[in-house]
Amino acid sequence: MDCLFCAIIKGEIPSTKVYEDEYCYAFLDINPQAPVHCLVVPKEHIASADAISCDNAEAVAKIFTAIPKIAAKLGLTNGYRIVSNIGDDGCQSVKHLHFHILGGKKLSENMA
Ligand code: 5GP
Ligand code: ZN
Repeated sequence: MDCLFCAIIKGEIPSTKVYEDEYCYAFLDINPQAPVHCLVVPKEHIASADAISCDNAEAVAKIFTAIPKIAAKLGLTNGYRIVSNIGDDGCQSVKHLHFHILGGKKLSENMA
């Protein structure tokens, strides 16, 4: 399977690592849309948040326990936003589940 984020996790494509554990890998977005823009991905290939099920829920739950540590590492002491785009209408460009962590400024109230 040809997946960009699987290749990044394996180190086949370079990335700026922020955090890694048994379940997830976090790295800076190549095209930041905020002063701080980090992506968190499960090491297991899951196509999107629409493919979360009881079979892979543990990996997703572990990501959410890692996010506060990642945010602290990124210096996001005043809040941040977590976004996950899904499918065409959600403008998902990489078909491996990822959570955008956006922050470092007061973000727009407009989310759509
Ligand atoms: P999506 O549009 O699927 O929600 O988010 C994909 C994100 O991956 C985009 O924000 C894009 O900038 C980022 N991205 C795409 N290719 C690369 C890459 O090769 N390296 C890194 N670090 N980020 C990437
Ligand atoms: Zn993948």
